[in-house]
Amino acid sequence: MRFEPDRIIVHQTGALWGDRQTIDAYHRAPRPRGRGWDEIGYHGVILNGSRYAGRYRREDDGLFELGRSWRRIGAHDHGENQLAWGLALVGRDVFTFRQLLELHAVVQGLRAASPRPLEVYGHCENEPEGAPVTECPGRRLAPRLELLRSWLADPFPDTRSPRGREFLAAVCFPRGADEEIAA
Ligand SMILES: [Zn+2]
Repeated sequence: MRFEPDRIIVHQTGALWGDRQTIDAYHRAPRPRGRGWDEIGYHGVILNGSRYAGRYRREDDGLFELGRSWRRIGAHDHGENQLAWGLALVGRDVFTFRQLLELHAVVQGLRAASPRPLEVYGHCENEPEGAPVTECPGRRLAPRLELLRSWLADPFPDTRSPRGREFLAAVCFPRGADEEIAA
């Protein structure tokens, strides 16, 4: 079966730090230590600057790292893997401004490249009956997925209007608060 997604599913990793390599290692590790998959389940991850605990580096903040091939079905969302590209923001509940800007850029890029129109959903949406309950993509984004969708739909990331600023303030660390992530 050809893999032709019609949606992008946004995740959080749930860990305060990490990168493609650490997530890949976790997804490959046998259960119960990991997931026992043959590679990372997400198609891409967006770093928050901390590849390792307590080590924030500005050049890693908002950095996109490719996960599983865009042409391969991912492993990230019960019931929707056949239809979806999975993107994960490193972090738990709160993200950096640069991560949100990069998410915007990646979604715009995928929309431009995809033969099909792409909707954006959070992991917690459209869950099949009996699937484990998840708060992914986190306590701040999960209740604001409509806002996320409209923010991503704008061709330029809205960082200026009251609505755009309010959205970013609600889901991001205050600007310049890098030490919060490094903690
Ligand atoms: Zn998720």
